[in-house]
Amino acid sequence: MTETSGVSEQVQGASADEEIRIGISACLLGQEVRFDGGHKRDRFATETLSKFVQFVPVCPEMEIGLGTPRETLHLEGEENAIQLVTTRTRRSLTDTMNRWAQSRVEQLERSDLCGFILKKDSPSCGMARVRLFPSGGQGVPSREGVGLFARALMEQQPSLPIEEEGRLQDPKLREHFCERVFAYRRLKTLFAGAWEIGGLLAFHAREELLLRAHDPVGLVELDRLLACARGLEEEELERRYREGFMASLRRPATRGTVTSVLQHAIRSLADPLDEDSRQELLARIAEYRRGIIPLLIPVTLLAHHARQHRIERLLGQTFLEPHPRELLLRDPVGSEGGFGEGAAEEEGDP
Ligand code: SF4
Repeated sequence: MTETSGVSEQVQGASADEEIRIGISACLLGQEVRFDGGHKRDRFATETLSKFVQFVPVCPEMEIGLGTPRETLHLEGEENAIQLVTTRTRRSLTDTMNRWAQSRVEQLERSDLCGFILKKDSPSCGMARVRLFPSGGQGVPSREGVGLFARALMEQQPSLPIEEEGRLQDPKLREHFCERVFAYRRLKTLFAGAWEIGGLLAFHAREELLLRAHDPVGLVELDRLLACARGLEEEELERRYREGFMASLRRPATRGTVTSVLQHAIRSLADPLDEDSRQELLARIAEYRRGIIPLLIPVTLLAHHARQHRIERLLGQTFLEPHPRELLLRDPVGSEGGFGEGAAEEEGDP
């Protein structure tokens, strides 16, 4: 294990030959890097997600040379002139943090990250709703601040799935984040080496239902892009597909769009499926639509019929299993509450 400014740089989580790497605010891994020498260990990250990904810890405040314990920091000022300031001694760390963040994010781009989990409320790591004081640091703060490292990360890596640990307590947001992380891994793997248009078309075909669940309009736009793929430079095609694919998945799937996808998928089974089985499947889909049963049930039934009748095109759809089933993201029994220490905390990491 190596140490830089007190942040353990050892990749933590699944074994070293695993491919999915996720950046994370170091305090969420239990590293004692907070201003008071404490941590904010997150149970979902450390006990569940860590079985499937490698974490790359980052602590902006330690990495710019602030030790622990240290003076608290806050954001202040107006839009376009926001300052990161030490609260008691009023020293501005804005330029230091911005310079460091830009170069650290460039470094992270070479680390093959598939996602990032940020600590909420922090003036360095918070991705939204961070307390922003009026100039001078006095008065009532708004909740319009964005941590300086978080801002650099979001601006420089717009396709990277990024979430806060606080929002990941919500089962829907957690599933959405994980879906994007695993999809980004598949996309990066596709474009990692020499690739051909045939490979991209096959990839797109496998992702069709997942894209349809998130963004039916975006799916049509990607279809159009691929229809003229052979007339485009390879680099431009890759850039436009990568951006469009991740932008579509950024849109949350709803019960309505997922129901449409399930109904659409039944058409692939139209011929072999007997009427009783079809009615049973439709009934389960309707129950899912009304929120009575989890998505896992109609999806499992659909996959069962696809296997039974060897409908390969349907079986190949990533929508059927977009992330490891062991994460229990489509099973409300396994995704109800209880994750994340300090989830209800109001005050942020100053
Ligand atoms: S929230 Fe604070 S302690 Fe945690 S990683 Fe970010 S800067 Fe470090």
